[in-house]
Amino acid sequence: MRQIIAEVLIIDDILISDALIQEQFVCNLNACLGACCWEGDWGAPLEKEELQTLEDIYPAVRPFLIPEGIAVLEEKGLYVWYEEADNYGTPLLENGACAYLTYDKRGIAKCGIEKASEAGAVSFQKPISCHLYPVRAKEEPAAGFRALNYDRWDICSAACSLGRELQVPVYQFVKDALVRKYGMAFYEQLDAAAREHYGKADEE
Ligand code: SF4
Repeated sequence: MRQIIAEVLIIDDILISDALIQEQFVCNLNACLGACCWEGDWGAPLEKEELQTLEDIYPAVRPFLIPEGIAVLEEKGLYVWYEEADNYGTPLLENGACAYLTYDKRGIAKCGIEKASEAGAVSFQKPISCHLYPVRAKEEPAAGFRALNYDRWDICSAACSLGRELQVPVYQFVKDALVRKYGMAFYEQLDAAAREHYGKADEE
């Protein structure tokens, strides 16, 4: 079921900001160097089911991490509770970077879990919140509330410029993550809404 009210779409009872359709975004790693891995006050948000997953895959992910990250994860734990953010998240190094952060050959920040996944060591790609970024999912199961919002962050300004240049709406940029979390049928409904009401569509 799909409804459009003001600047919010509703698909399968999920409230979706129309900024996901109206704004453009493509990460420009050469410009930002993966700054979202070390900026911010809290670690990457983690879903409850992901906590056990991190416990299960840690031995296989450990060889891909940097020594400082391993030290923090083995001292603080594989995830921590952030009171102000009201969620579990990845632990942080002293300098504020995510404890799972590593670097690629170019010196650009790269998730150590994703590195392990690409090497075939684990099947879990990375936390869904990182995969979805710059889209943030907010869920309050007790109230039956689910929403998807576009998180604007100045460190991503180069991604906004590149997205405009390439004409890629936010929802298309995070297609794989949306399909991973909500399924292809949900994505196709979102794409149809973009096409019918906003004149945009995923050409893939
Ligand atoms: S989300 Fe923002 S900071 Fe992170 S890689 Fe993309 S553009 Fe860079």
